[in-house]
Amino acid sequence: MKKDFIFNDVNTLKGVGPQLSKYLKKKKIEKVKDIILNLPYSETDRSKLFKLNELEVGKTQSIKVFVKKLNFPRIRNLPNKILCEDETGKIEIAYFNSREGYLRKLYPLNKWIIISGKINYFNKKYQITNPDYVTTLDKKEYVIKNIPKYNLTKGINEKKYRSISEQVINNIPNIEDWLNENFIKKNNLSMWNECIKKLHNSKDGKDNLSKSYRRLVFDELCANFFILSENRRKIKKEKIPKKFTKKKMNFIKRTLPFTLTESQENVLNEINLDLADKKRMFRIVQGDVGSGKTIVSLLAISNVIESGYQCSLMAPTEILAKQHYELFKKIYKGTNFKIDFLTGKTENRYRKEILKNLENGKINLLIGTHALFQKKIIFKKLGLVIIDEQHKFGVKQRLEFAKKGGDNCDVLLMSATPIPRTMMMSLYGDMDISKITEKPAKRKKIITLSKPEKKINELWPFIKKQIINKNQIFWVCPLIEESSFLDYSSAKKKFDLINKKFPNKVGLIHGALEKHEKEKVLKQFLNKEISILVSTTVIEVGIDFPNANLIIIENANKFGLAQLHQLRGRVGRGENQGTCILLFKNGLSKNAVKRIKILKESDDGFYIAEEDLKLRGFGDLIGYQQSGIKNFRFSDPIIHEDLFKLAELYVQTNQSDINQKKYSFLLKLFDKAEIINVEEI
Ligand code: ADP
Ligand code: MG
Repeated sequence: MKKDFIFNDVNTLKGVGPQLSKYLKKKKIEKVKDIILNLPYSETDRSKLFKLNELEVGKTQSIKVFVKKLNFPRIRNLPNKILCEDETGKIEIAYFNSREGYLRKLYPLNKWIIISGKINYFNKKYQITNPDYVTTLDKKEYVIKNIPKYNLTKGINEKKYRSISEQVINNIPNIEDWLNENFIKKNNLSMWNECIKKLHNSKDGKDNLSKSYRRLVFDELCANFFILSENRRKIKKEKIPKKFTKKKMNFIKRTLPFTLTESQENVLNEINLDLADKKRMFRIVQGDVGSGKTIVSLLAISNVIESGYQCSLMAPTEILAKQHYELFKKIYKGTNFKIDFLTGKTENRYRKEILKNLENGKINLLIGTHALFQKKIIFKKLGLVIIDEQHKFGVKQRLEFAKKGGDNCDVLLMSATPIPRTMMMSLYGDMDISKITEKPAKRKKIITLSKPEKKINELWPFIKKQIINKNQIFWVCPLIEESSFLDYSSAKKKFDLINKKFPNKVGLIHGALEKHEKEKVLKQFLNKEISILVSTTVIEVGIDFPNANLIIIENANKFGLAQLHQLRGRVGRGENQGTCILLFKNGLSKNAVKRIKILKESDDGFYIAEEDLKLRGFGDLIGYQQSGIKNFRFSDPIIHEDLFKLAELYVQTNQSDINQKKYSFLLKLFDKAEIINVEEI
């Protein structure tokens, strides 16, 4: 087999037909190399041969038996049966749906054979139904041993998968290692060539601290970090520096009803320096919900417009985009800036007009949704692209945004998802980072309370009072990710209950709704047509609901701390006191009590994210999955902290060699090669 065979489609393997290949692909095993990366989660011990009087029902055991009799009843639904025995007893082997000829071959009469499978007891007899392995004595070595166990789905049985995976693992090409031997030894890793075999055929695959596993982690991290640094190299190129006097900016600043926090000033300053620099800006602004990122972007934009360039601001949803548009129109009132708004829904005649005015440079700032990135949209002189709440975009998309802007276009991302420090490099290693660390001083701290769900009745009077006072309420049910049906039914149940108490005042949003249906309900809430919004966590971040002052979060244990913090950040954005009530199902564990304490005490998203990671561990950060933070398969920032640092350093020192052939294997292995080949920008 050729060295490169591991990058071929799985269907190029012997024994993988269209059907099996479909099942494998369902398990995300698309290429041969994915079999290499699919590590066993355990192993089945078939290493001992048992006598028939030593069998234990329910266990998987291996036996050596004599084939005594085959029985093929000609009645539908009755299994074919083979009677076997040894000196100590008898056992029956049963087969449903199998052909006589096949079984006669497998079970030669009056011969000793080896069988391995799960032991049952049926009709007062030991029985194995459809055994995992049946083989002749001379092939015993293949079965009588520890056999790795893989996570498999319907349609793939262990034996079949094993034959495929062995075909791959035994033919792994010997490659020139991209790490040198000293480095490997010194850092407690193993050589690539031995690592894979060990991961599949020893305990190493299940021990995330073994040398082989650590090697895989290190490789995974390097592949990721290489891509990030390559991304950065491609984006941070020379550009024409932007020239501006900040006159417009200072004018707008003076008209604001508040002064910027020190943190906002610092970040704004960093952005302005980038704009005036001779390299392109590629920066992310991180700041808690409500820390005031929008105003910072708005001020930066005024400098870009002053310097004669156009800007575009993209938000993830129509509502958020619209909210930005209204705000910018208001604040830019005293300027001559021309702003416009474009989404997928913009009527054709307006769209045409907008496209024309973008091309002739009449529009200074275009605000909108994804629609801004369509091919047809051509700016005369685009100087800055801002993407709000961007955490759903990956590295590749970031590069595409930058590309779209052209050579002189700066790129600024804004995110409200606080990221633990250890994860910063792996997520945003390609970008410069600015943090808004303080909140506007006037803002009141949100009151956070916890309550057992049993006492939910105590809430109704409180809620009633809120409604009378024309306050609005979020009611969050946990998202059931595996099933949009369950998700719907649990949120719907809650909706029905609350709707009974407060008829015509409640709206519902859940995972199975289409985007436009969601937006419709959100709009009703925003326009105060309803007072309570029941939802799963699908409520978008970023939207300002100035009138929402109470958030009730059910089954709060299901959420990560960082996520709870984000959720509660959606209330108390206006003048009024915000309150967050966490409902819990049963008695609280020690850990849960600690978690609530942190939330009650702290208001700082960055601190909370760190504590969350420490308390729950990376493997358990459910809430992070959606936000793309959990982007590694093997690496864990807590368990492998040393390797995160090591890989960062390694990539820094070896970055210039990225195009060497030895690394192409590594990048391909982790599906990164494609990203790096995105044409130069
Ligand atoms: P986010 O960082 O979540 O995007 P926003 O930019 O939407 O936050 O700001 C939240 C609210 O705080 C807005 O109503 C905004 O006008 C207000 N705000 C922003 N900066 C300040 C400040 N320095 N002082 C007082 N209020 C501010
Ligand atoms: Mg925002």
